[in-house]
Amino acid sequence: MPSEPAPADPAAAAAAQAHIAALVEQRVPYPRRVFCNRNLRLDRIRFIGFDMDYTLARYTEQMEHLQSELVLERMVDHYGYDRSILAATYDPRFAIRGLTVDKLHGNVFKMNAHRFIGRVWHGAAPLDPETRKSLYTNRKVSPRDDRYVMVDTLFSLPEISLYCQLVAAFDAKPDGISKPTYARLWDDLRSAMDSLHRDGTLKAVIRADLARFIEPDPELAETLHRFRSAGKKLFILTNSEPDYTEAVMSFLLDGRYPGYARWRDYFEFVLTSGRKPTFFSTEDPFLDVSDELVIGSDPSTVFRRGGLYAGGNLFDLTRLTGMIGDDVLYVGDHIYGDILRSKMHTHWRTAMVVQEMERELTQVLEHRDALDRLYGFEERRFQLDLELTAKALDGERDSALRNEARNLGREIARLSQEISDAFNPTWGMLFRDRAELSAFGAQSEDYACVYTSRVSNFRLYSPQWYFRSPRDRMAHELRV
Ligand SMILES: [Mg+2]
Repeated sequence: MPSEPAPADPAAAAAAQAHIAALVEQRVPYPRRVFCNRNLRLDRIRFIGFDMDYTLARYTEQMEHLQSELVLERMVDHYGYDRSILAATYDPRFAIRGLTVDKLHGNVFKMNAHRFIGRVWHGAAPLDPETRKSLYTNRKVSPRDDRYVMVDTLFSLPEISLYCQLVAAFDAKPDGISKPTYARLWDDLRSAMDSLHRDGTLKAVIRADLARFIEPDPELAETLHRFRSAGKKLFILTNSEPDYTEAVMSFLLDGRYPGYARWRDYFEFVLTSGRKPTFFSTEDPFLDVSDELVIGSDPSTVFRRGGLYAGGNLFDLTRLTGMIGDDVLYVGDHIYGDILRSKMHTHWRTAMVVQEMERELTQVLEHRDALDRLYGFEERRFQLDLELTAKALDGERDSALRNEARNLGREIARLSQEISDAFNPTWGMLFRDRAELSAFGAQSEDYACVYTSRVSNFRLYSPQWYFRSPRDRMAHELRV
């Protein structure tokens, strides 16, 4: 007869967990940690796929300045805008990911997880509270309404900053002068930026001076090597074209680690021009890419070790490699194209790279005391609300408690503003919107199994590491 399992000892389990957490804390600096939303056992992962732009390749701020200059020039040269728009300058501290543009009114706002709109910006200033209320409190924003555009890639941050500046510039022009509608202005900016990507203008400038636009991560090569040593098969799945992928990856990895002369030595196969997110749903064939980086015309029926391919689709990838759903970890930076869509169409596990998190986490450390105070005040307010409600049910009024609640409310607002200003004076924290998750934070939580600021942070963990989510129970389940 099998014996009864020994009863779990909650105290011992909690102590063991605290011990492990403490070890990780000592070893891995907070801004470099990998955070976990859903348990992930690296020992179960056989394939690790990487997106390239903003995932393996970290772009510098110079890239955003370049995009801004080029896009304004293009709007003048191809879209008939007046040269005065060239005076707009990109402010790298203005925008964060997850903002939404309201094309109809020329506004930019941040939504929380429940699509409540708190901070709204119009042109060079916050929108006045009355207008904000009248525009955004009666009807919930629908992500399907094409009046709204949620900006969730780092590539698009310059567009938000420039849009606000151009809205302000056109608002300031006297009536009677021809000016585009807010929607037209956004569409032109968007389409001008797209054309710079599509026709290779932007990439040609980057390729001519890679060191200016891409910041090599000295620990990337070793990170990939460690994964390979643990038996993982690595691959790249990028939307970038073969020649650009070759240029960027050579710059990042050629000759950076003993035993790997060329960047392709790290990868089982490299999939370029992937057209994510449609990669996950179309039937486009994989095409062979020659040593001269020319895309062939016949569909590839096998993958060669270290081979380079263009196009393709999820179904053929699965068939050609034998990968099965959850033995794949895909690492990307784009919440929609990389993370959400791969989650919808596959059982791939996902790791999201949030480059800007490193700065935010450093700020969290710097403002730890203020944040602790804020969380303490919020807890106290919650308790006060309960006490006041209980008294009200008994028909009592307690003016001392009410006074305390009022003062606490003021203190919370002051402290939240102070903390917010330290992160981003206009929008506050990336993952948070005051006491709630931001829309971006909620999407990250829903779709990314783990998230971290850069790929090489995985080097700080064993390739067999078991990432455990702190949220393994629902709110109604008893905690020990
Ligand atoms: Mg990317």
